Amino acid sequence: MFDKSYKQIVILSGKGGTGKTTFSSSLAAILNNKIVIDCDVDAANLFLILKHEVISTFDYYGGKKALINQTKCTECGLCQGLCSFDAISNFTVDQLSCEGCGFCYRICPFEAVIFKQIVSGKYYECLLPDNSKFYYAKLYAGEGNSGKLVSELKRKALENIPPEIEWVIVDGPPGVGCPVNASAAAADYVVIVTEPTLSGVHDLKRLTELLNTFKINAGIVINKYDLNMDLTSQIFKYAGNNGLPVIGTIPFDKEFMNALINGENIVEVNENIREIMYSIRNQIEQQLELAFN
Ligand code: SF4
Ligand code: SF4
Repeated sequence: MFDKSYKQIVILSGKGGTGKTTFSSSLAAILNNKIVIDCDVDAANLFLILKHEVISTFDYYGGKKALINQTKCTECGLCQGLCSFDAISNFTVDQLSCEGCGFCYRICPFEAVIFKQIVSGKYYECLLPDNSKFYYAKLYAGEGNSGKLVSELKRKALENIPPEIEWVIVDGPPGVGCPVNASAAAADYVVIVTEPTLSGVHDLKRLTELLNTFKINAGIVINKYDLNMDLTSQIFKYAGNNGLPVIGTIPFDKEFMNALINGENIVEVNENIREIMYSIRNQIEQQLELAFN
């Protein structure tokens, strides 16, 4: 049994370009009483598909960086010679190159280095047309620590969650790095969106290994399954050997691209895909019943 009102569904892909974001937006469109979070903070794009209105904007402080106070700096040159990242020249810190190690701050004999938190990005609280909340973030170019931003974004989205909320849909980042770990934290179920390509199969295996370490229930959706039936069969075989249910197969359809170009959600314009998405939702519900009851 759940000790909270909602189920948190995290959508991952192991690689970019599998249609994960389109899948997330389609799933979000057919669910009621939901919150949607785009955790792909390095390349957010769910906001391009989901019609929304931004209602609050928050600064994200990713870490500290150095600045030189020119009125105190004696131009002794000590910091410039010792910065391992060559971030200081002409007694000025290049903010893109500064890694925030704080070494210059500690060694400056004249206390001329200011070391302070800087704004590394923004995150947004939005309303969807059905009044559901939607959250996304943008990390500034050159800023790291996207895993920390994912955690902060999820914390904001999940605080004071109303009891009527039944679903939290998390569109995770591609890959298997730290932001993926942060996205999958506290997931009730992970949907792995893959495709029948060699790289798709390879990244599916890497992602499965990662999820095994978390012991999170997961199922596979094969997108564009009909583009290579041999590789689709391999994915089914791999899934069977690893106890992973294939909870849906989505055919290639040119209408996906047309919908994207026209700013439409595919489930609103394609009945076949809408029916497939309802079936996948039912599969997820059945998997959750099996896992938690
Ligand atoms: S160590 Fe301090 S005083 Fe010397 S160049 Fe750097 S900031 Fe200026
Ligand atoms: S904080 Fe570290 S990386 Fe940044 S300028 Fe100072 S020594 Fe270089």
